[in-house]
Amino acid sequence: TEEIKGLQVDDHKLAEWDKKHFLHPTSSIKQQQEEGPALIFTEGEGIYLKDIHGKKFIDGLSSLWNVNVGHGRKELGEVAAEQMSKLAFSSAFATFSHEPAIQLAKKIADITPEGLNTVFFTSGGSESNDTAFKLVRHYWKLKGQPDKKKVVSRKKSYHGVAMGATSATGLKPFRDFTTSLAPDFYYVESSPEAFRAFIETEGADTIAAFISEPVQGTGGVHFPPKDYFKEIKSICEENDILFIADEVITGFGRTGTFFGVEQFGIIPDIMSVAKGITSGYAALGGVIISEKIHQDLIDLSDGLFMHGYTYSGHPTACAVALKNIEIIEREDLVANSKAMGEEMLAGFKWLQQEHDIVGEVRALGLMGAIEIFREGNERFAEPLSPKIVAESLERGLIHRGVIYEGADTLIFAPPININKYEINKMINILHDVLSVVEKNID
Ligand code: PLP
Repeated sequence: TEEIKGLQVDDHKLAEWDKKHFLHPTSSIKQQQEEGPALIFTEGEGIYLKDIHGKKFIDGLSSLWNVNVGHGRKELGEVAAEQMSKLAFSSAFATFSHEPAIQLAKKIADITPEGLNTVFFTSGGSESNDTAFKLVRHYWKLKGQPDKKKVVSRKKSYHGVAMGATSATGLKPFRDFTTSLAPDFYYVESSPEAFRAFIETEGADTIAAFISEPVQGTGGVHFPPKDYFKEIKSICEENDILFIADEVITGFGRTGTFFGVEQFGIIPDIMSVAKGITSGYAALGGVIISEKIHQDLIDLSDGLFMHGYTYSGHPTACAVALKNIEIIEREDLVANSKAMGEEMLAGFKWLQQEHDIVGEVRALGLMGAIEIFREGNERFAEPLSPKIVAESLERGLIHRGVIYEGADTLIFAPPININKYEINKMINILHDVLSVVEKNID
């Protein structure tokens, strides 16, 4: 059959409707109009996705760092169907409640670091962070310090696309998408000295909270400097600044511990979660607060808690999350993430030996990156990541390239139920891809 930009004539209608009616998230609108959808997915199984032509791909980024337990988990579909038939939705506003949200809140209290025992539910990461920002300001207002409202984040950070979340995002291209943003957000370099200097200049009595991803994901999988978080946490304590850990990517086993902060020996005051909480089988997020904050809210609240989404604690999403966490525990996927992360890093190191263009490699659990450099640790004038990503796609491997702010980085986060054979398969594809790309450098 005739092919139109990779899609067969039978699928042409889908491509046309996509172009005309579907404004894609985080996309090039021009490219969509010129080329239509590159892939239309139809099925998933384990670490694989299948497209409309039946071609299989390794989902090297767990889709959007979220399909932690892998695709095609029938029991998650079944629990959703069961909950939907029984009670698909009811409100959790005010004094109404329902069992899936109560059970999940209790489960989250059990698995999160000590003292983080109360959760506010949202539908995703951006809502979680916006909730956290409003909450810390509400908190300081109740404590009689309404001027404590600045939120400090790090350069290269990503916290989502809601108004507060975008405003807190250190990656400038996301902020430049629009004009007015929310006030009172600031970005600092990733050193305790930079944070101290900021506090010195602005005054601790104007700063509500510091927010950071334990490992920066979208910015290019960047690990914090050694002891960075311990120092930041003590600076926060000295200055009455709340520490928000954005665990949207790093939560639920991604880095080889249940939560990313466990890698760095700190307990935050607030934790934002989403993505891996349901492995993407339903839309859910949460903001988990310390017992201290919860008790202060109980003691100091004088009116209503004027913040709640229709889908805060969606019963079906909560039922899916509970089953998803059960799978993570039953199959010991946090330990698997750690072990397979080591395999992946060993594979990256082998690629580094084999290929001149592989500079630095790094991974923590199943969150990893390969830096592309010219000899002598110089970047290529034109980043190679887009070409590498395209060649990988041809060979059945999906991953992402990061080219913001001069980077040329390949990033990976496969499902945490991946096995050794599948890791090797991923590395072998990358080996072929890097060989081809290397050969064509002029
Ligand atoms: N925070 C982090 C660290 C993220 O990586 C993301 C999404 O990638 C978000 C927040 C936003 O989450 P969502 O896209 O579910 O709104």
